Amino acid sequence: MKYDVKSMKAEEFINDGEILDTIAYAKAHKDDMALIDEIIEKAKLRKGLTHREASVLLACDDEDKVNEIYDLAEQIKKDFYGNRIVLFAPLYLSNYCVNGCLYCPYHAKNKTIPRKKLTQEEVKKEVIALQDMGHKRLAIEAGEDPVNNPIEYILDCIKTIYSIKHKNGAIRRVNVNIAATTIENYKKLKDAGIGTYILFQETYNKKNYEYLHPTGPKHNYDYHTEAMDRAMEGGIDDVGIGVLFGLDNYEYEFAGLLMHAEHLEAVHGVGPHTISVPRVKHADDIDPDEFDNSLSDEMFCKIAAIIRIAVPYTGMIISTRENQEVREKIIRLGVSQISGGSRTSVGGYTEKERPHDTEQFDVSDNRTLDEVVNWLMRNDYIPSFCTACYREGRTGDRFMALCKSGQIQNCCHPNALMTLKEFLMDYASEDTRKIGEEMIQKEIGTIPKEKVREIVKERLVKIENGDRDFRF
Ligand code: SAM
Repeated sequence: MKYDVKSMKAEEFINDGEILDTIAYAKAHKDDMALIDEIIEKAKLRKGLTHREASVLLACDDEDKVNEIYDLAEQIKKDFYGNRIVLFAPLYLSNYCVNGCLYCPYHAKNKTIPRKKLTQEEVKKEVIALQDMGHKRLAIEAGEDPVNNPIEYILDCIKTIYSIKHKNGAIRRVNVNIAATTIENYKKLKDAGIGTYILFQETYNKKNYEYLHPTGPKHNYDYHTEAMDRAMEGGIDDVGIGVLFGLDNYEYEFAGLLMHAEHLEAVHGVGPHTISVPRVKHADDIDPDEFDNSLSDEMFCKIAAIIRIAVPYTGMIISTRENQEVREKIIRLGVSQISGGSRTSVGGYTEKERPHDTEQFDVSDNRTLDEVVNWLMRNDYIPSFCTACYREGRTGDRFMALCKSGQIQNCCHPNALMTLKEFLMDYASEDTRKIGEEMIQKEIGTIPKEKVREIVKERLVKIENGDRDFRF
């Protein structure tokens, strides 16, 4: 097998030999300061880095250079994403699963976990609970089970979610995290109006992948790895990739992730919309210590910073798998989206107390959405509930073009302020509202175009008077 970024075969675009050579090259050059400076200079052009270049930076442990990388990551994040953080919540639909994933408590052989699948009436109740928190954007999650969770079930759930209008609430973007499927099914998801299709690779190392997925359709590495190509062929422009850090060594996963992004860009003309960086967590019958590739918080942050400078136009997502402290560090280095107030069990949002029986993993950040919004603003970030891009047709290369042109500040920034205003009016605690109003007043002044600024001011008054859902 030879490495070919444009090949449609998994083992050619994620090529084991190329990854091993990359890791060896990175190790050999980790103290080559001239090369490292050259790579950092290239990153400053904000056009990204290759997997090889990025891997050299990952291997470099010179403190000054690492700090330089952190500063650059922070600057690039500011340039492309400003100080906005988009918020979302996962919605678990069903934990029926026929796969045998060794790290996931939903694996078919787990007899201790209760199996549950939401009815449409239950989906409705969950969505109302999520709307009452203030969420506008969901990521739906389900195990793989052609009998219990066929594509028709997922489509019904999406329809139900979009149909619910409770008080001023609405879910305006449904992202989908379900198992790899066929082009026909991706077309159906596209027609159902989904936002991003998300699928984590788990690990890019084929041998380890097959070991970790011993049974079920997910065992097929090639089918799983080529899923994003099928999704794009099915018309889904925005795809979200990720690995489950801890399953294999991070150098391998890091190179694989970037090679995957390079492949999507080379073949489809547009890279991944988002990259997620989950780490393996404790769960029912899962002990994360059984996987001996866990990585330190420090290395985790370094990975995020280098992803930021290697793929500047790709959003980065961090979930409540991480605690407040880690989230605080890593957001600064390049994360653009976080979940908040999450429950990772099927039917979890309608329970008063956090239920643990059907949880997919333990949550480390247990704060409410209002607390997360408050904390973000106290750290000078604008919490954004914006869902405008895909609703305005700004997906795939059109979104990337907007991002590259720097026009995002006239578009995403006002949208963030207007959706934050909605949150403050409808769902926030008194303290959050107070801080939020001050933030909005301060941030209006940073909208570059005067005309846009004036329109935003008018719309903020309209939101105050009861109108909703303005967007640029
Ligand atoms: N079942 C779908 C599939 O096959 O891709 C995806 C949905 S699954 C509910 C979402 C993700 O949770 C998985 O892709 C995996 O990376 C992650 N996950 C599974 N077990 C985990 C654990 N113990 N700790 C942290 N994340 C986990």
